[in-house]
Amino acid sequence: MSKILKNQVAIITGSTSGMGEAIARRFAAEGASVVINGRNEERGKKIQDEIVNAGGEAAFYQADVSSAPEVEALVEFAAERFSKVTILVPNAGILGNGLATEISLETWEKTIGVNLNGVYYLCRYGLPKLIEAGGGTVVINASIASFKSFPKHPAYCASKGALIPLMKNLAQDYAKHNIRVNALCPGPIDTPLIWDSVKAFPNADSIIDETIEMTCVKRLGTPNDVAEAALFFASDRSSFITGSSLVIDGGIMC
Ligand code: NAD
Repeated sequence: MSKILKNQVAIITGSTSGMGEAIARRFAAEGASVVINGRNEERGKKIQDEIVNAGGEAAFYQADVSSAPEVEALVEFAAERFSKVTILVPNAGILGNGLATEISLETWEKTIGVNLNGVYYLCRYGLPKLIEAGGGTVVINASIASFKSFPKHPAYCASKGALIPLMKNLAQDYAKHNIRVNALCPGPIDTPLIWDSVKAFPNADSIIDETIEMTCVKRLGTPNDVAEAALFFASDRSSFITGSSLVIDGGIMC
């Protein structure tokens, strides 16, 4: 059976762990050349080497997504290394735990910088490459926090909320270039981030159990659950879908 991302080149930010890593591995297994990004070179190179040793194409590029010049350099690296860019997955995200009146201004700005500006920068510099390639797809990793507040995560909720109208705007404006833009909205997924998130609460131990109880399927999601949805949005399997957000939350939102 032919691989569904053959001849595609994907940039996945924050892909040195969690969902980004799973998306990079899944896309590579489906034939895409993947650019792995994060700040940790050791982890990034290890994932790159594992994908290459398994017969895939991958290259790591270290960049902080909250820096526009670094994201521009990441996009230029991808275009040079693999001759084109056709898929953007702005995935990197941080939490910025704490009450709105208690978090530092630096925490607020950093969270918005990574979760919102970082997504914009990848699209800002990446969309012209997709246009040059004749089209492509953008798969933004948002959250159910785009729709529902989580206590003590004000900057996280604000930044994730802003991604949905941004995604719709890009879908509207870039459709004429054969570009589709959609958003993943995961619920609780078993990655390092969710364990950091519960640290904001005194009863951290029981929070995960309560969260699992809130799902209909009575478990946390896995990074692969989200990678499958990312693959759907990135590929022709979703060719009539743009401007859409997909909740992947085991039923919490119902
Ligand atoms: P994770 O912590 O494993 O992954 C986040 C990645 O982003 C890491 O690789 C981290 O190094 C990278 N990153 C952070 N700041 C960066 C920066 N400035 N520049 C470049 N890379 C940076 O967690 P995850 O759960 O896989 O998170 C992936 C995305 O999914 C995030 O946007 C997160 O908000 C979102 N999300 C997570 C959950 C969950 O329950 N885990 C739920 C909904 C949405």
